[in-house]
Amino acid sequence: MRTQFMVDGFTPSENAHANMRWLVELAIKEVGCPADAITDLIVADEAHFGAAIHSLAPGLPYTNNENFAAVAKTIKLGVNADLKTSGIVLRDFIVNQALIALDKEWNVRSGEEQRFIYTVWHETAHALDATRQTAVRAAPESPVAPGQLFKVRHLAAFFTEVVLSEIAACRLSAFACSQPMLDLEMDSDRESIRRMLAGLREHTLAHHGDPDDLWRIAFEAAQTFWLPFVQYGKSIAHIAGNPQLRQALDLWADCPPEVETVFKDYVTLLNETFGVYPAAPSDFGDRLTALWVRMAAAYGFRFPEAATGDGVYWRWRTTPATEA
Ligand SMILES: [Zn+2]
Repeated sequence: MRTQFMVDGFTPSENAHANMRWLVELAIKEVGCPADAITDLIVADEAHFGAAIHSLAPGLPYTNNENFAAVAKTIKLGVNADLKTSGIVLRDFIVNQALIALDKEWNVRSGEEQRFIYTVWHETAHALDATRQTAVRAAPESPVAPGQLFKVRHLAAFFTEVVLSEIAACRLSAFACSQPMLDLEMDSDRESIRRMLAGLREHTLAHHGDPDDLWRIAFEAAQTFWLPFVQYGKSIAHIAGNPQLRQALDLWADCPPEVETVFKDYVTLLNETFGVYPAAPSDFGDRLTALWVRMAAAYGFRFPEAATGDGVYWRWRTTPATEA
């Protein structure tokens, strides 16, 4: 495993390399990932996070916007003697805080402290999941379709892979998720969904017919309704993978009543998917997309398809909670 630091003003000692290697090797052992599956490990500060990812995979998109900024990423690199290999990029503070938190007993660690450790385990689980994929789960790297088009099917293919890969990594590393961490995650999921819905409502109210604006609203709306499947999918996978966790799928503020049935069907779909891992039901993408259509409809949104790019119509059926 090659180790590298991309942190401004920091000259890593032998010890720093050894600590970082020790941390990831511990995760590898506990998650049950083949040791050779992770060939590269880079610790980067905020300014170098993108450059670190691009040093392993030139041009690969990663999450970085006002709502979410990635702090860790696992990148599929290739195949070495039949073993699918990955590289991991971790933000510097994750590594530092995880090393500090590991000195504390499991039962006294706060949700936040456990989350630093968990993040390393979760990325290692992505590398393990990559080794188990018999066919490459072909998926677009970006939610935007070629030609900058808004296409709901392209977005659905993108998010289907996000969900499959996240539920796999979450279930494989669920034993590193504690109850305080799960509670913290659920709180922050509800809050980010509430914030996304409030932002979407604001943008639809401010819209005055500018086509560029409409294009942005279409993406924002489509992704806002995908977000609950990604976030709640992670929690459902944690609960499925760790019998110690108490089930608590509380929905967000002012959630339309239909969402409860959508999530009931989502749990059924995910449980079926866990049972056939590392495969997935052949109709997984279609069933997941149908749930997303119902989620959007619960808020009064629909996305008619057209060859030249899909559209968006809305008539808000519910008032999302406004800024607190
Ligand atoms: Zn992940």
